Amino acid sequence: MAHPKIEKLYKQIPSFECKPGCADCCGIVPWARSEWDSLPEKKEAISTDCPYIGKDDNCSIYEQRPYMCRLFGNCNDPMLRCPHGCGPEKPLSWQKAQKLTNKYHGLIDK
Ligand code: SF4
Ligand code: SF4
Repeated sequence: MAHPKIEKLYKQIPSFECKPGCADCCGIVPWARSEWDSLPEKKEAISTDCPYIGKDDNCSIYEQRPYMCRLFGNCNDPMLRCPHGCGPEKPLSWQKAQKLTNKYHGLIDK
């Protein structure tokens, strides 16, 4: 598990179903220390693709994916919108997402 304060941030992010077998937004993502430390297997990126993209293009560590992967697609910010139009019924406002992300940055060493 990530640091409890990071887990609390996760709970404030809505969820939605992705297009099956899609990893189009998966690249190099930031990790807080506790997110990284809680992974059973550490993989180094050998390209700009995330090393945790599974064989079927699904996330192989979905339950342990870091904050940024959870936020993507869940916010009104055009930079964070899913290119396939997937997203929750009620996405976070840009302001709310910014607030959560600022808190996350403050916890990056936790
Ligand atoms: S958010 Fe969109 S682009 Fe990213 S994995 Fe899901 S469906 Fe694919
Ligand atoms: S951790 Fe999972 S969701 Fe995040 S970029 Fe990698 S494969 Fe995609």
